[in-house]
Formats: sequence, C-alpha cells, structure tokens
Amino acid sequence: MSAAGPEIERLIQILAKLPGLGPRSARRAALHLVKKRDLLMAPLATALQTVMDTVTVCRVCGNLDSKNPCTVCSDPRRDPGIIVVVADVADLWALERANAVNARYHVLGGTLSPLDGVGPEDLAIASLVTRAHAGEVSEVILALNATVDGQTTAHYITDLLSDAGVKVTGLAHGVPVGGELDYLDEGTLTTAIRSRTNMG
Ligand code: ZN
Repeated sequence: MSAAGPEIERLIQILAKLPGLGPRSARRAALHLVKKRDLLMAPLATALQTVMDTVTVCRVCGNLDSKNPCTVCSDPRRDPGIIVVVADVADLWALERANAVNARYHVLGGTLSPLDGVGPEDLAIASLVTRAHAGEVSEVILALNATVDGQTTAHYITDLLSDAGVKVTGLAHGVPVGGELDYLDEGTLTTAIRSRTNMG
C-alpha cells in the first residue's frame, strides 16, 4: 500500500536502482523532486535527456563523454607518450579528480576473472596492445585495483606488452591490498601513480 500513485511509484523504483540509494532514500529523493518541480525536476529531466542524446563511448580510450574522441583524448596538452590503463570509467574519473597524471587513458571494461568467466577477449586488451605499439607511446601505467583480479590482469598485460618497446609500470605503495581505486582519497591516488614502479 502506497500513498503515491503508480507514476511516482515507478520513479521511486527506478531511483532505487541507483548505487547508494535504497528504497527509502529513493522515496525521499522522489518526493524532493516532485516538490521542487521547477527548481530540480525540470533541469534534471533536461540533463538526463541531453546526456542520453549525446554521450557515447570514446572510440580511442573507452571513456564516456559527449565528445568522441573524448575530452581527454582530444586535449593537446596531454602527454601522448603515456597511457594509463584502468578497469572502469569510474577509475579514470577518480584519477582525473585527483589530477594525478597528465596522460591519456585506456579503459579495459573490467578485469580478468576466470571464476566469473571474464577472459581477455571480453576486455579492451587487443586495442590496448595496438595503441601501445604506436610509436609515440613510451610508457603504459597499469592503474588497476589491488585485488587478485586486478593484479592478474596487470601481469597478463605486462607479459603481452613485453615486446612492445614500452615501459610498463604499476601503482606503488599507498593502494591498500584489496583496494579499489574509486574509493581512495585523492592524495593516496596521486601518490600511488607518481611513485609507480616497474612491472615484471
Ligand atoms: Zn578518449
């Protein structure tokens, strides 16, 4: 039994699927939106529609942006010699928030996980190898989670790039074992990438 009609219930159900929002918070958020119709709901609806219409996966790095190639890939001030490899777009955004490195990125779309049936062909690994072989690239930084799957992926890629003529580095101290990059504070993230070490 609910006091709200089916339309608002539908909104609550959708909001409840967002990370960090359970059914209770979703209900509060929906009520807040309905109350702030002009101030919040209308701009939100417009923003959602705009993002929906414009955002695509960057064909170079896998970032999500309304530009393709994305803002990072098309920024001439970025060092084209360094590619930072991340598992997820969230990690790319975390590194950018931390202002950790002035490089380009490559989003794998996950990490190798034999238990979950995720193999190399399920990730953007072949395109990374192609990019790493392009002459301008001198270093590949593996900014992967300090989890078993993250480190398995790091070692797999290190082996794969052994003949690419690039330096392969990984995040140094500061990343706790089992740590996921998106949850680290910006200082830790920046330290980890600046004091990176050689892989393999
Ligand atoms: Zn890009």
